[in-house]
Amino acid sequence: MRRYSALLLLLIFTLGCRALSIGSLTAPTPTILPTHTARATQAPTPSATFSSTAPPSPSSTSSPLASPTPSPRATEQAESFHVQFHPDGGLYIGDLVSLEIIAPPGFDLEGDQVEIQIDDPAATRLPTADFDGFGIQGRPQATLIWAWDTQSLQPGDYTLTFAIPAEDMTWTETVTLQPGSDLPPDEAEATWVSDTIACCTLYYMTNTAAERDLETLGLMVQAEAEQAIEQMEVEFTEPITITFLPRLLGHGGFAGGEIHVSYLDRNYAVNDFELVVHHELVHILDGRLGGELRPSILTEGLAVYLSGGHYRPEALLPRAAALLDENLGWYQPLEKLADDFYASQHEIGYLEAGALVAYMVDRWGRESFEDFYRDIHPHESELQSRAIDAALGDHFGITLAELESNFIETLRSQADGELWREDVRLTVEHFEALRRYQQALDPSAYFRTAWLLDTRAMRQRGIIADYYRHPSQVENLVLETLLVASGNALDGQQYSEAEQLLEAVNRTLDALEAGAERPFTAHPLAADYYAIVQALLERGYQAQQIKIKGDTAWAAGSSFQPEMIEFIFTRSDPGWTLAD
Ligand SMILES: [Zn+2]
Repeated sequence: MRRYSALLLLLIFTLGCRALSIGSLTAPTPTILPTHTARATQAPTPSATFSSTAPPSPSSTSSPLASPTPSPRATEQAESFHVQFHPDGGLYIGDLVSLEIIAPPGFDLEGDQVEIQIDDPAATRLPTADFDGFGIQGRPQATLIWAWDTQSLQPGDYTLTFAIPAEDMTWTETVTLQPGSDLPPDEAEATWVSDTIACCTLYYMTNTAAERDLETLGLMVQAEAEQAIEQMEVEFTEPITITFLPRLLGHGGFAGGEIHVSYLDRNYAVNDFELVVHHELVHILDGRLGGELRPSILTEGLAVYLSGGHYRPEALLPRAAALLDENLGWYQPLEKLADDFYASQHEIGYLEAGALVAYMVDRWGRESFEDFYRDIHPHESELQSRAIDAALGDHFGITLAELESNFIETLRSQADGELWREDVRLTVEHFEALRRYQQALDPSAYFRTAWLLDTRAMRQRGIIADYYRHPSQVENLVLETLLVASGNALDGQQYSEAEQLLEAVNRTLDALEAGAERPFTAHPLAADYYAIVQALLERGYQAQQIKIKGDTAWAAGSSFQPEMIEFIFTRSDPGWTLAD
């Protein structure tokens, strides 16, 4: 439980706190913005396109592109587009708004452009944007980053008209810009700051958990970096840039040229923070050491192996052996995994890759593994499995198929593989539920299409909202605190408790998807978490963590600052009562 030690020291035990009046935190029911009103034209007239030289009148509230006779098919297609606005979690005057215009699955729009006009007083026309693949998923969408400056606008509703001329399609979306003065005070005052330590430059925002815990984080990052540099035997010359994000994106860590790692109190991935940092540090150092082709299965396998686990420290070979358990049947053939690593089931792929590298290092030694790993070259088939196969032949005189059969034999010889079956099964289920939640209620966080920006440009322009703000409606708080509890139960090997909590998450998501009026009644635990989240909101606190044992609930919440306040509730009839 290292990750919470610093946090627990900071808990202030206060019962019966004063109620605050809170704007954005207290929305009682799920709200979906923007409202999507689709219109389409089959054959727009010249006057109804963006090539028109006469801009619509500023007072116009109707779409200048709307046709009085939309084709049913085009209308249906336009309706199936989804526009994701950023910052995510409500728009405020002063935001630099970004837009993702997401095409429905299977829609080929490569090379098409989208045009956007806003019914603001200046009849703003945003730059045109091309459809392209986005994120590691390659989702077809047009993306406009920080394109709509709302600084000089009045609060209220604005209608945006979207046109894809090549498809003869137009539709409108209405968004609400809230007054800048309604921004939660912690966000309104937050800014980027940095700190330099021996290994790294750390960037974070004020009024976040990272700022609160910075001293501990700095010491921890330095220790992990020193260990990773030693493991990788790399000449360290250039400092590493690490940005602490106050929202969870993906599973908590990303490495490109720089490292981005989520650090927050309601981290529903419940990953080991040191281990995630270590993993990303290995990626950066690995990239510096190079190699013509570093196949994904081995790049990720090496990072997992050198970190001692994927999300938390783990016995890689015994846990990977559980994948062969006939009740799970989750083992992925290496050829398939090597050729499509990032599309494979995430936890299985990383566990198997980490165990494979552990096996190879055990068998041939780290130095021989490194010689092999840095000497892999693209194969004419472009398949990474074939490239690995060739390098295995050159270095160890075996094929990938032979490596796999030896690897499986070693996994089968692990004495305690079966003991880990529940742990492996529930780890996979926890992260499947997490991704399901993200796709449904925090889509910008989903790892395959995560909203990852150029943080250097954010810092230069003083933009914090894309990372500071994120969906925090009641349903987000309930489901995220359930996932935090599930992750903690799993970490403590409380498997049946973890299973019940995951059941609560999934039943609630089922109910939300089915449009249920009271989705939290779908499972008793969800109902309890909902009641406690609401009780905290009524007192002006946003729930960060909740744990229920019998008729007692422990909850930690925060109110516009990263300091956590603890509450104890007891079950009463009906609902929960704050303990005296
Ligand atoms: Zn990785």
